[in-house]
Amino acid sequence: MYELAAKKTNYPLHLGVTEAGPLLDATIKTIIGLGSLIEQGIGDTLRVSISGSPLQEPIIAKKILHEYGLYDHLPSLVSCPTCGRCEYNLPSILDKIIKYLDSYSKPIKIAVMGCPVNGIGEAKNADIGIFGTNKKIGFYYQGKFLK
Ligand code: SF4
Repeated sequence: MYELAAKKTNYPLHLGVTEAGPLLDATIKTIIGLGSLIEQGIGDTLRVSISGSPLQEPIIAKKILHEYGLYDHLPSLVSCPTCGRCEYNLPSILDKIIKYLDSYSKPIKIAVMGCPVNGIGEAKNADIGIFGTNKKIGFYYQGKFLK
């Protein structure tokens, strides 16, 4: 309907999946439901509908727009999925970084990587990048190894 409406009219179109459920379900349904429209440039406003705290709704909307390159006031976070090579407590460091980034509105890229094997490249390509070993964590800042 919205693809047709976008072809036939210049009226602004409001995107949203209603009654989408709790946080995880609502996020998945919203992305599946709206993603192809956003990719086509269809939609002028966006709403995320969650059964739960309404405070999450604009945050998820901003993150969706950010991933589509339509909102640049958020940092980008790259993090490794962890595997047997990860020898430090990456999830706990990642949690702290995510909490910090929640209140940060500049378009910087952060990489949090598990090991030197595949982590150095990503760490180098970020504004701030870290990778871990079983003893230490390495820091890159804008492509240069700091510490
Ligand atoms: S960066 Fe290292 S620890 Fe993380 S998934 Fe890749 S190989 Fe595994």
